[in-house]
Amino acid sequence: MFRLRSGYQGRGSHPAHPIYCWLCRALASTPMSSFKNPIVGLCQQASFLISAAKVDQCPLDSGREVAFAGRSNAGKSSALNTLTHANLARTSKTPGRTQLLNFFTLDDERRLVDLPGYGYAKVPIPLKQHWQEHLEAYLSSRNSLSGVVLMMDIRHPLTEFDRLMLDWSQASSMPLHILLTKADKLAFGAQKNALLKVQRDVRQDWGDTASIQLFSAPKRQGIEDAQRVLARWLGLDEPAAEA
Ligand code: GDP
Repeated sequence: MFRLRSGYQGRGSHPAHPIYCWLCRALASTPMSSFKNPIVGLCQQASFLISAAKVDQCPLDSGREVAFAGRSNAGKSSALNTLTHANLARTSKTPGRTQLLNFFTLDDERRLVDLPGYGYAKVPIPLKQHWQEHLEAYLSSRNSLSGVVLMMDIRHPLTEFDRLMLDWSQASSMPLHILLTKADKLAFGAQKNALLKVQRDVRQDWGDTASIQLFSAPKRQGIEDAQRVLARWLGLDEPAAEA
Protein backbone atom coordinates (compact mmCIF):
# COMPACT_ATOMS: atom_id res chain seq x y z
CA MET A 1 0.00 0.00 0.00
CA PHE A 2 1.24 3.51 -0.75
CA ARG A 3 1.93 5.76 2.27
CA LEU A 4 3.12 9.35 2.42
CA ARG A 5 6.34 9.59 4.38
CA SER A 6 5.39 9.85 8.02
CA GLY A 7 7.49 12.95 8.62
CA TYR A 8 5.78 14.84 5.85
CA GLN A 9 3.66 17.63 7.28
CA GLY A 10 2.51 19.11 4.03
CA ARG A 11 2.01 22.75 3.25
CA GLY A 12 -1.41 24.12 3.85
CA SER A 13 -4.25 21.84 2.88
CA HIS A 14 -3.19 18.72 0.94
CA PRO A 15 -5.57 18.91 -2.00
CA ALA A 16 -4.02 22.20 -3.10
CA HIS A 17 -0.44 20.92 -2.95
CA PRO A 18 1.06 20.18 -6.39
CA ILE A 19 2.66 16.88 -5.30
CA TYR A 20 -0.61 15.71 -3.82
CA CYS A 21 -2.47 16.67 -6.99
CA TRP A 22 0.06 14.84 -9.15
CA LEU A 23 -0.24 11.77 -6.93
CA CYS A 24 -4.03 11.80 -7.10
CA ARG A 25 -3.93 12.08 -10.88
CA ALA A 26 -1.39 9.27 -11.12
CA LEU A 27 -3.46 6.99 -8.89
CA ALA A 28 -6.69 7.88 -10.64
CA SER A 29 -5.20 7.03 -14.01
CA THR A 30 -3.79 3.68 -12.85
CA PRO A 31 -5.01 1.30 -15.60
CA MET A 32 -7.61 -1.29 -14.63
CA SER A 33 -5.23 -3.89 -16.05
CA SER A 34 -3.34 -3.72 -12.77
CA PHE A 35 -6.35 -5.48 -11.22
CA LYS A 36 -5.38 -9.13 -10.86
CA ASN A 37 -8.43 -11.22 -11.46
CA PRO A 38 -8.09 -14.67 -9.86
CA ILE A 39 -9.91 -16.18 -12.85
CA VAL A 40 -6.78 -15.62 -14.97
CA GLY A 41 -4.60 -17.93 -12.87
CA LEU A 42 -7.36 -20.51 -12.61
CA CYS A 43 -7.96 -20.55 -16.35
CA GLN A 44 -4.28 -21.06 -17.03
CA GLN A 45 -4.49 -24.37 -15.22
CA ALA A 46 -7.74 -25.38 -16.96
CA SER A 47 -7.83 -28.90 -18.29
CA PHE A 48 -10.26 -30.89 -20.40
CA LEU A 49 -12.52 -33.01 -18.21
CA ILE A 50 -15.13 -34.78 -20.27
CA SER A 51 -17.42 -34.58 -23.31
CA ALA A 52 -21.08 -35.29 -22.71
CA ALA A 53 -23.66 -36.07 -25.38
CA LYS A 54 -26.45 -36.13 -22.81
CA VAL A 55 -27.16 -34.71 -19.39
CA ASP A 56 -26.62 -38.04 -17.67
CA GLN A 57 -23.03 -38.06 -18.97
CA CYS A 58 -22.22 -34.68 -17.41
CA PRO A 59 -19.83 -34.57 -14.46
CA LEU A 60 -21.20 -34.44 -10.91
CA ASP A 61 -23.54 -31.47 -10.57
CA SER A 62 -21.70 -29.73 -7.72
CA GLY A 63 -19.76 -26.49 -7.31
CA ARG A 64 -20.22 -23.88 -10.03
CA GLU A 65 -19.91 -23.82 -13.78
CA VAL A 66 -20.23 -21.23 -16.52
CA ALA A 67 -21.31 -22.19 -20.03
CA PHE A 68 -20.30 -20.57 -23.33
CA ALA A 69 -22.87 -20.56 -26.11
CA GLY A 70 -23.12 -19.02 -29.55
CA ARG A 71 -24.07 -19.51 -33.13
CA SER A 72 -21.39 -21.21 -35.23
CA ASN A 73 -18.82 -18.68 -36.41
CA ALA A 74 -19.92 -16.07 -33.85
CA GLY A 75 -16.42 -16.19 -32.35
CA LYS A 76 -17.12 -18.48 -29.38
CA SER A 77 -13.85 -20.43 -29.65
CA SER A 78 -11.80 -17.28 -30.06
CA ALA A 79 -13.51 -15.65 -27.07
CA LEU A 80 -13.13 -18.74 -24.90
CA ASN A 81 -9.45 -19.05 -25.75
CA THR A 82 -8.78 -15.33 -25.31
CA LEU A 83 -10.54 -15.16 -21.96
CA THR A 84 -8.84 -18.25 -20.57
CA HIS A 85 -5.40 -17.69 -22.15
CA ALA A 86 -5.64 -21.34 -23.11
CA ASN A 87 -6.46 -23.36 -26.17
CA LEU A 88 -9.58 -24.93 -24.70
CA ALA A 89 -11.76 -24.44 -27.75
CA ARG A 90 -9.49 -26.43 -30.02
CA THR A 91 -10.16 -29.40 -27.79
CA SER A 92 -13.88 -28.86 -28.32
CA LYS A 93 -13.41 -28.75 -32.08
CA THR A 94 -11.57 -32.06 -32.35
CA PRO A 95 -13.58 -34.57 -34.39
CA GLY A 96 -16.25 -36.29 -32.36
CA ARG A 97 -16.58 -33.52 -29.81
CA THR A 98 -18.25 -30.80 -31.82
CA GLN A 99 -21.85 -31.77 -31.03
CA LEU A 100 -21.26 -32.36 -27.35
CA LEU A 101 -20.97 -30.41 -24.16
CA ASN A 102 -17.27 -30.12 -23.37
CA PHE A 103 -16.35 -29.61 -19.72
CA PHE A 104 -13.11 -28.02 -18.51
CA THR A 105 -11.99 -28.11 -14.92
CA LEU A 106 -10.63 -24.97 -13.32
CA ASP A 107 -10.40 -26.42 -9.82
CA ASP A 108 -12.33 -28.93 -7.69
CA GLU A 109 -15.29 -26.59 -7.43
CA ARG A 110 -15.32 -24.76 -10.74
CA ARG A 111 -15.79 -25.63 -14.41
CA LEU A 112 -16.28 -24.01 -17.80
CA VAL A 113 -18.54 -25.65 -20.36
CA ASP A 114 -18.26 -25.19 -24.11
CA LEU A 115 -21.73 -25.73 -25.55
CA PRO A 116 -22.00 -26.84 -29.16
CA GLY A 117 -22.30 -24.03 -31.68
CA TYR A 118 -25.78 -23.82 -33.07
CA GLY A 119 -26.89 -22.83 -36.55
CA TYR A 120 -24.76 -25.44 -38.26
CA ALA A 121 -26.39 -25.86 -41.65
CA LYS A 122 -24.71 -29.13 -42.55
CA VAL A 123 -25.81 -31.11 -39.52
CA PRO A 124 -28.54 -33.67 -40.25
CA ILE A 125 -31.95 -32.88 -38.72
CA PRO A 126 -32.02 -35.83 -36.28
CA LEU A 127 -28.67 -34.77 -34.84
CA LYS A 128 -29.91 -31.20 -34.58
CA GLN A 129 -32.99 -32.38 -32.69
CA HIS A 130 -30.88 -34.58 -30.44
CA TRP A 131 -28.58 -31.66 -29.69
CA GLN A 132 -31.40 -29.19 -29.04
CA GLU A 133 -33.18 -31.63 -26.76
CA HIS A 134 -30.08 -32.36 -24.70
CA LEU A 135 -28.95 -28.76 -24.59
CA GLU A 136 -32.35 -27.78 -23.23
CA ALA A 137 -32.19 -30.59 -20.71
CA TYR A 138 -28.74 -29.45 -19.62
CA LEU A 139 -29.73 -25.79 -19.35
CA SER A 140 -32.86 -26.48 -17.37
CA SER A 141 -31.59 -29.16 -15.02
CA ARG A 142 -28.04 -28.19 -14.14
CA ASN A 143 -27.92 -26.84 -10.59
CA SER A 144 -24.28 -25.83 -10.73
CA LEU A 145 -24.80 -23.69 -13.82
CA SER A 146 -24.19 -20.15 -12.55
CA GLY A 147 -24.38 -18.22 -15.78
CA VAL A 148 -24.18 -18.36 -19.55
CA VAL A 149 -21.91 -16.27 -21.77
CA LEU A 150 -23.58 -15.81 -25.15
CA MET A 151 -21.44 -14.78 -28.11
CA MET A 152 -23.07 -12.76 -30.92
CA ASP A 153 -21.29 -11.37 -33.96
CA ILE A 154 -21.74 -7.62 -33.55
CA ARG A 155 -22.77 -7.40 -37.20
CA HIS A 156 -25.49 -10.08 -36.88
CA PRO A 157 -26.87 -9.91 -33.33
CA LEU A 158 -30.06 -11.43 -31.96
CA THR A 159 -30.42 -14.38 -34.29
CA GLU A 160 -33.34 -16.72 -33.76
CA PHE A 161 -31.34 -18.94 -31.44
CA ASP A 162 -29.96 -15.96 -29.50
CA ARG A 163 -33.58 -15.02 -28.88
CA LEU A 164 -34.35 -18.52 -27.65
CA MET A 165 -31.41 -18.30 -25.25
CA LEU A 166 -32.72 -14.98 -23.96
CA ASP A 167 -36.22 -16.44 -23.56
CA TRP A 168 -34.85 -19.39 -21.65
CA SER A 169 -32.58 -17.25 -19.53
CA GLN A 170 -35.46 -14.97 -18.59
CA ALA A 171 -37.80 -17.90 -17.86
CA SER A 172 -35.25 -19.64 -15.66
CA SER A 173 -33.73 -16.47 -14.12
CA MET A 174 -30.33 -17.63 -15.31
CA PRO A 175 -27.75 -14.82 -15.54
CA LEU A 176 -26.75 -14.20 -19.16
CA HIS A 177 -23.84 -12.09 -20.36
CA ILE A 178 -23.64 -11.19 -24.05
CA LEU A 179 -20.34 -10.59 -25.80
CA LEU A 180 -20.77 -8.63 -29.04
CA THR A 181 -17.82 -10.25 -30.76
CA LYS A 182 -15.71 -9.04 -33.69
CA ALA A 183 -16.19 -5.44 -32.52
CA ASP A 184 -12.97 -4.63 -34.39
CA LYS A 185 -14.89 -5.13 -37.65
CA LEU A 186 -16.70 -1.85 -36.96
CA ALA A 187 -15.40 1.67 -36.39
CA PHE A 188 -15.55 3.02 -32.84
CA GLY A 189 -18.78 4.99 -33.36
CA ALA A 190 -20.51 2.08 -35.07
CA GLN A 191 -19.49 -0.24 -32.21
CA LYS A 192 -21.09 2.09 -29.68
CA ASN A 193 -24.25 2.40 -31.78
CA ALA A 194 -24.49 -1.37 -32.18
CA LEU A 195 -24.05 -1.84 -28.42
CA LEU A 196 -26.74 0.72 -27.63
CA LYS A 197 -29.13 -0.84 -30.12
CA VAL A 198 -28.70 -4.38 -28.76
CA GLN A 199 -29.01 -3.06 -25.19
CA ARG A 200 -32.21 -1.28 -26.14
CA ASP A 201 -33.68 -4.28 -27.99
CA VAL A 202 -32.81 -6.68 -25.19
CA ARG A 203 -34.22 -4.38 -22.52
CA GLN A 204 -37.41 -3.94 -24.50
CA ASP A 205 -38.06 -7.66 -25.01
CA TRP A 206 -36.36 -9.28 -22.00
CA GLY A 207 -35.99 -6.53 -19.39
CA ASP A 208 -32.87 -6.82 -17.25
CA THR A 209 -32.20 -10.44 -18.21
CA ALA A 210 -28.77 -9.89 -19.75
CA SER A 211 -25.70 -7.72 -19.47
CA ILE A 212 -23.99 -6.81 -22.74
CA GLN A 213 -20.51 -5.68 -23.74
CA LEU A 214 -18.25 -5.20 -26.75
CA PHE A 215 -15.56 -7.80 -27.40
CA SER A 216 -12.74 -8.38 -29.86
CA ALA A 217 -10.36 -11.31 -29.62
CA PRO A 218 -7.56 -9.95 -31.84
CA LYS A 219 -7.72 -6.48 -30.26
CA ARG A 220 -8.09 -8.00 -26.78
CA GLN A 221 -11.00 -5.62 -26.22
CA GLY A 222 -13.39 -6.25 -23.35
CA ILE A 223 -11.37 -9.06 -21.78
CA GLU A 224 -11.26 -7.68 -18.27
CA ASP A 225 -14.96 -6.88 -18.15
CA ALA A 226 -15.81 -10.40 -19.26
CA GLN A 227 -13.34 -11.93 -16.81
CA ARG A 228 -14.93 -9.97 -13.99
CA VAL A 229 -18.30 -11.49 -14.87
CA LEU A 230 -16.78 -14.98 -14.89
CA ALA A 231 -15.09 -14.39 -11.55
CA ARG A 232 -18.37 -13.22 -10.01
CA TRP A 233 -20.36 -16.18 -11.29
CA LEU A 234 -17.67 -18.61 -10.18
CA GLY A 235 -17.54 -17.11 -6.69
CA LEU A 236 -14.02 -15.75 -7.09
CA ASP A 237 -14.76 -12.14 -6.30
CA GLU A 238 -15.70 -12.72 -2.70
CA PRO A 239 -13.32 -10.98 -0.29
CA ALA A 240 -10.98 -13.32 1.56
CA ALA A 241 -12.11 -14.06 5.10
CA GLU A 242 -10.44 -11.96 7.81
CA ALA A 243 -7.52 -13.77 9.41
P1 GDP B 1 -16.98 -20.22 -33.41
O1 GDP B 1 -17.44 -21.06 -34.56
O2 GDP B 1 -18.12 -19.45 -32.80
O3 GDP B 1 -16.19 -20.97 -32.39
O4 GDP B 1 -16.05 -19.07 -34.05
P2 GDP B 1 -14.46 -18.93 -34.11
O5 GDP B 1 -13.91 -18.43 -32.82
O6 GDP B 1 -13.87 -20.18 -34.66
O7 GDP B 1 -14.34 -17.73 -35.15
C1 GDP B 1 -14.88 -17.79 -36.45
C2 GDP B 1 -14.07 -16.86 -37.34
O8 GDP B 1 -14.17 -15.52 -36.88
C3 GDP B 1 -12.57 -17.18 -37.36
O9 GDP B 1 -12.09 -16.93 -38.65
C4 GDP B 1 -11.99 -16.20 -36.36
O10 GDP B 1 -10.64 -15.88 -36.63
C5 GDP B 1 -12.88 -15.00 -36.55
N1 GDP B 1 -13.01 -14.21 -35.31
C6 GDP B 1 -13.37 -14.67 -34.10
N2 GDP B 1 -13.42 -13.66 -33.19
C7 GDP B 1 -13.03 -12.55 -33.86
C8 GDP B 1 -12.87 -11.17 -33.49
O11 GDP B 1 -13.08 -10.75 -32.34
N3 GDP B 1 -12.48 -10.30 -34.48
C9 GDP B 1 -12.26 -10.71 -35.77
N4 GDP B 1 -11.90 -9.78 -36.66
N5 GDP B 1 -12.40 -11.99 -36.15
C10 GDP B 1 -12.78 -12.90 -35.21
